[in-house]
Amino acid sequence: MESSPLQLPADTVQQIAAHLKCHPTDERVALHLDEKDELRPFRDYFYIPKMQDLPPIDLSLVNKDENAIYFLGNSLGLQPKLVKTYLQEELDKWAKMGAYGHEVGKRPWITADESILGLMKDIVGANEKEIALMNALTVNLHLLLLSFFKPTPKRYKILLEAKAFPSDHYGIESQLQLHGLNVEKSMRMIKPREGEEILRMEDILEVIEKEGDSIAVILFSGVQFYTGQLFNMPAITKAGQAKGCFVGFDLAHAVGNVELHLHDWGVDFACWCSYKYLNSGAGGLAGAFVHEKHAYKIKPALVGWFGHELSTRFKMDNKLQLIPGVNGFRISNPPILLVCSLHASLEIFRQATIKALRRKSILLTGYLEYMIKLYCSKHPADTKDPTVTIITPSRIEDRGCQLTLTFSIPKKNVFEELEKRGVVCDKREPDGIRVAPVPLYNSFHDVYKFVKILASVLDSTEKKK
Ligand SMILES: *Cc1c(COP(=O)(O)O)cnc(C)c1O
Repeated sequence: MESSPLQLPADTVQQIAAHLKCHPTDERVALHLDEKDELRPFRDYFYIPKMQDLPPIDLSLVNKDENAIYFLGNSLGLQPKLVKTYLQEELDKWAKMGAYGHEVGKRPWITADESILGLMKDIVGANEKEIALMNALTVNLHLLLLSFFKPTPKRYKILLEAKAFPSDHYGIESQLQLHGLNVEKSMRMIKPREGEEILRMEDILEVIEKEGDSIAVILFSGVQFYTGQLFNMPAITKAGQAKGCFVGFDLAHAVGNVELHLHDWGVDFACWCSYKYLNSGAGGLAGAFVHEKHAYKIKPALVGWFGHELSTRFKMDNKLQLIPGVNGFRISNPPILLVCSLHASLEIFRQATIKALRRKSILLTGYLEYMIKLYCSKHPADTKDPTVTIITPSRIEDRGCQLTLTFSIPKKNVFEELEKRGVVCDKREPDGIRVAPVPLYNSFHDVYKFVKILASVLDSTEKKK
């Protein structure tokens, strides 16, 4: 993908250590990195959970007033403080003027979703007309597939990852069934080579090259939810389209995490949720993208009144004037309270910019990787079996914030010990623990503290054995 102008995170860490005349694992390195971090003020825009409020915490092991180490922004982003303000604005409007709120104020309810499109477009790299904010992620995936997946006797397959997120898997399975297709024959799943965790680009491209003529739609994630692998979206798009396939992406773990250029890459369609890296709160308003080139060709299969042009929508004459492009896919009026929380978060992204966030993220996650390798690979020193393995690709171009760790001891033990000490992360079957330092609100000191805790947990688990 794009070559990185940055120096490798490990080199940066070593240079700072040399400058400070200390070991690279010294706490002073983390503090120095935080001091130099231009995005540091954004941490104060969020509520950071306190140790004492976490359900699994063991108060004998932590200082209860300290901040938790929240590394789960890949699953549920933290709450921007501005959410309350924005919600309150609309609650007040509703209280004071009832239905007049549809037409007036900062976010007239009828066009509330449209009022924040300008803040979303740069995050996914699209024109405003190419994106819509509506529904939830899986609902949008279904709506898009209903229009893009038109199987014929010759071209009837959907290509996806074998370990796709369950909702995507079920979504595709049920779409195939809707067309009366044989799921086993039509659901073309691609899995990593024997003994490997990560899909190789060359293998993906080979399947497309060999079977592309029978593939109707390629649906990949942008960033794999389990391994954290960032796929080469432009290359998959190009290869798929050269074979006549539609190419779409589920960006749940990519949006707000890595740079996206959906328009320039020529991606056909995409969808994403907003409660992960985009911090809109559980069940937040999701997004959908349909490339401009399809605006007048690909129509929604299911239509509602919010797909009708605004200028004549309220004539109520039942003569559909469909909005071209993805905004014609909107079915219902927008949920104003969900718009508020998303608006609050997108406002922060506008200030921070996705470019600067990605730059910090590369260093932050690189620092995490470097520290884990230095600290935790020496446990146990005398066996060949490393205690921690990072299964996420080590190349910057192939990953976002998240690292997925596996252990040579049961992950459940490690996970529970981390939780008791105020580390918020998650475990995923079969054997991974996912940690995601998020550049908007995580610090280098968070990473430092996490690695210290992880090392001590592994140490004590070793001794108990
Ligand atoms: C988080 C996630 C989902 C969740 O779907 P919802 O419809 O928002 O519940 C779906 N797919 C992927 C790839 C995800 O990461």
